[in-house]
Amino acid sequence: MSVIFEMESPLRTPYQLHQLEFGNGEGPTIALVAGMHGNELNGIHSLNMLISVLRMQKIRGRVLLYPLVNTFGADECNKRFPFDQNDINGAFPGNPNGHPAQRIAAALYEATAQADICIDIHSGAAHVRELPQVRAPISGLALEYARAMKLPVVWKRKGEYFSQRGLVACWRQREQIALHVIGGRGVTLDNSLCSMMASGFSNLLAYLNVTTAMSSVQETIEVTKQEIEVHRAVCGAFFVPEVRVGEQVQRGRLLGYLQSPIGGERIDEVRAMNKGIIMTLRANPLVHAQELLVRIACIS
Ligand SMILES: [Zn+2]
Repeated sequence: MSVIFEMESPLRTPYQLHQLEFGNGEGPTIALVAGMHGNELNGIHSLNMLISVLRMQKIRGRVLLYPLVNTFGADECNKRFPFDQNDINGAFPGNPNGHPAQRIAAALYEATAQADICIDIHSGAAHVRELPQVRAPISGLALEYARAMKLPVVWKRKGEYFSQRGLVACWRQREQIALHVIGGRGVTLDNSLCSMMASGFSNLLAYLNVTTAMSSVQETIEVTKQEIEVHRAVCGAFFVPEVRVGEQVQRGRLLGYLQSPIGGERIDEVRAMNKGIIMTLRANPLVHAQELLVRIACIS
């Protein structure tokens, strides 16, 4: 492990950006970034799982890993960079003379400049749990690589979903292949979902012939926005789920219900309109009207 960027802080030890590097350079370079959001811990653990695989293998090419970018945020369970509350993933391409998040962004952006393929890993927000999924463009080589991960869901999305100041968008502007992987829930550790993500990265590295294949094959569903069934709360309430992330459901299945937070009267039932896999599930039961409860990746 090496420290590739350091920044003074007023009271703590200096901020440090850590990089791990594996390989001999005789092949493609892949950069994997996690923990830009300090309260999203599944990406960190999934990269550490991948590292244990990389340590056992002969690597053809280079794998660059940044398991925890926002160390100060992680220390406080804070998505953003503490003190000024700036979002590192909203500070790209960064500025070496800017505010702390811009300086970290600039160092990370420069460090990954030589990579052919870049992967940015996140968890869901603290109130939702996400089935491991790769969000990819609707066509091209990036979609091919997304499929090669064999994660449970490939969500094909148009580029305008991304903030222009986000890392994935900036990598794409630099004509690097960039993918966005999301799994689990913020704040918590979803160990089994982490191992699915680690297998996904390992599958991609094997597809690129950087490593030797060793992961099991997972079933993948490929969806566009139109093929995702979304349920939102009809009113403020207490949401009780009746399913779990990754579960296959049939049309008509009770997904959960809304009840009165105090007294428990049932207000509404949420039922599947299509057959599919639960890809997102509300974790914090207290909901306001129109908040996300469930997303289903539909199986046609
Ligand atoms: Zn995030």
